[in-house]
Amino acid sequence: MQKPPIIWTNLAVFSVTGLAALILVPWYGLSHGFDGWQWLAMLILFSYSCLSITAGYHRLWAHKSYAAHPLLQWIFALGGALSLQNSAYHWCADHRRHHRHVDHTDKDPYSASRGLWFSHMGWMLRHYSSPDDSNIADLKRNNILAFQHKHYLLLTVLMNAGLPLLLGLWNGDMWGMLLLAGGLRLFLGHHVTFFINSLAHFWGRQPYTSKNSARDNDILAVLTFGEGYHNFHHLFEFDYRNGIRWWHYDPTKWLIRSMSWLKLTSRLRTCPPERIEQAQLERRFELARQKIMKRQQTADTEQWLALLQSEYERLLLQLRNYYQMRKHLLDIKKKAVRCKYEELRLRLSCDELKAAFTIQRRNWLKLTTRLELA
Ligand SMILES: [Zn+2]
Ligand SMILES: [Zn+2]
Repeated sequence: MQKPPIIWTNLAVFSVTGLAALILVPWYGLSHGFDGWQWLAMLILFSYSCLSITAGYHRLWAHKSYAAHPLLQWIFALGGALSLQNSAYHWCADHRRHHRHVDHTDKDPYSASRGLWFSHMGWMLRHYSSPDDSNIADLKRNNILAFQHKHYLLLTVLMNAGLPLLLGLWNGDMWGMLLLAGGLRLFLGHHVTFFINSLAHFWGRQPYTSKNSARDNDILAVLTFGEGYHNFHHLFEFDYRNGIRWWHYDPTKWLIRSMSWLKLTSRLRTCPPERIEQAQLERRFELARQKIMKRQQTADTEQWLALLQSEYERLLLQLRNYYQMRKHLLDIKKKAVRCKYEELRLRLSCDELKAAFTIQRRNWLKLTTRLELA
């Protein structure tokens, strides 16, 4: 079968950044050297562009897992242009399709079922599918994203060439800054994001579901600003967190959370804990069943399976009871807080009325006494 035509622009971008990062940067470093400011600029721009993808493109716009103040949206839109991963419209349309049709050979744009290379970069090098923005009608009503999409090329040039050049002028070494904060930063930013589509579907554990190829992987989480908990993410995509435990390395989650203290983010969505727990129990049940089935079938195999089944059902029942009671307790607590507040409000108005009454009564007494004396 004939392969679809090559997308020359993408091939050129990946080749130029790849050559710059792998050949020009080491050569320049050895012959001229880089200073601390250049490394710092590289690190800051790398983090800014990556977080704009993870917190902005991914969790805010593709999944709507929280709401963001326009100021923060502008910051992410510019950071998205800096990351050179296409406009948020294209990115989110592809990503929503990836979730909807995960692992499907044709419908998932970067399907892991087509191999590691295809899901990492291959899918961007040829016209495998034509652009389809039918699933981002909601994002089309966002003026910031419409602006970013319309002026994407200009913004990209300004952010990727203009910004490092400006920093280079300030630093006194334009080429060094352009190579480090431009070339190497772009190369690293691209590949760590691409790891989510490739490695995070091949390497790691599956504690929540085996219905798709997505995996949880701590090393990838460190490299990708917290996006490595991909097994959880594919099952609970509307959760603003990817790493749900406090010890899970998820700087994107921390950023979204801390921005909510400054009122820059709001309506952070999380999945009910009982659903998460249930998914984990179901997965363990499935693994245990598989283990029993793999063993040599003996007389007590059926007995083992029946025991597993009944214990699992009992556990689910207890899980439901516990969470129901917990919800009830939380409701009561909320009501108690509301009652306390209402009591305080009533006491204040009661005090106010009492004071008004006392004054009025004093006046009344004065008036009637005066009339008696007259
Ligand atoms: Zn995925
Ligand atoms: Zn996603």
